[in-house]
Amino acid sequence: SQAKVGFIGLGNMGGPMATNLLKKGHSVVAYDVSPEAMERLEDEGASIAMSPAEVASKVDSIITMLPNSQHVRSCYTGEKGVFESVQPGTLIVDSSTIDPSVSKEMAGSALKKGAVFMDAPVSGGINAAKAGTLTFMVGGDEKEFMAAKELLSAMGKNIIYCGGVGNGQAVKICNNMLLAISMIGTAETMNLGMRLGLEAKLMASIINAATGRCWSSELYNPVPGVLENVPSSNNYEGGFGTALMAKDLGLAQDAATKSLTPTPLGSLAHQIYRVMCNSGLAEKDFSSIFQFLQEQNSK
Ligand code: NAD
Repeated sequence: SQAKVGFIGLGNMGGPMATNLLKKGHSVVAYDVSPEAMERLEDEGASIAMSPAEVASKVDSIITMLPNSQHVRSCYTGEKGVFESVQPGTLIVDSSTIDPSVSKEMAGSALKKGAVFMDAPVSGGINAAKAGTLTFMVGGDEKEFMAAKELLSAMGKNIIYCGGVGNGQAVKICNNMLLAISMIGTAETMNLGMRLGLEAKLMASIINAATGRCWSSELYNPVPGVLENVPSSNNYEGGFGTALMAKDLGLAQDAATKSLTPTPLGSLAHQIYRVMCNSGLAEKDFSSIFQFLQEQNSK
């Protein structure tokens, strides 16, 4: 059955995700603080609302794709927010990457309104968002998972149940902590080898057939020219921004602190990505750690 879906947050990820819902025949009521973002969706056949509350009053399910925890909290609980007018029985799925404790807080507020809230952050980036092949990591009540899966399958290929609400976020921030650590490790390793006189492509091919191999070395190598279709070969444009990675590493550190868990390399990775943000690389892809380290080489 083709539901009436509200979509809030039409940015790099949310825009193409909402487009895929339209392509699959859903009717979409869209909202973003940016009028330009709303116009793009309107051109593709969505109807437009003037606030999250207006979206909530018109739909059976709601998806949000916002930058961070503060945006999510204000979109749901703020003035003209979703919870002002959400209808009982509404399925709410938040796909933003945020603090798992904020997901739990939103789920509690939704329950008071008779609605269901699930967290479902994504992996795959903008290309997968456009292609409709995202991976969704879903947290929430297991009885509601099938309904969420049906909705999300218009935008993704792997929809995975992770347990109670907040668990989707927990998996996501753990994965991104490891990704940051492995990207920094790959960048400093490549930089050292190149300074020892090795050619970058040869070095990468040996690592990728040896025990140092990882996603960052094999499929997203941070050294320009090693791979063709990655941000490092395009002046670190596009991809997954350094500022968003710094945010995710901050979420991992908050979670580590609250759960009294030692994460020494996650902590260092957080600091490195924060410094990169202040060095002009905030909007560049997170593989620009290689450029950052190269700038520290003594001549
Ligand atoms: P983005 O900045 O491109 O888009 C966010 C959109 O939300 C913008 O259009 C903005 O105008 C809108 N917005 C902000 N506040 C709003 C509000 N109060 N109400 C309505 N709209 C509001 O960000 P993105 O790249 O689409 O990322 C969204 C989320 O997905 C982030 O949490 C990010 O960490 C996560 N994510 C991104 C990627 C990626 O590759 N870009 C991959 C996986 C996960």
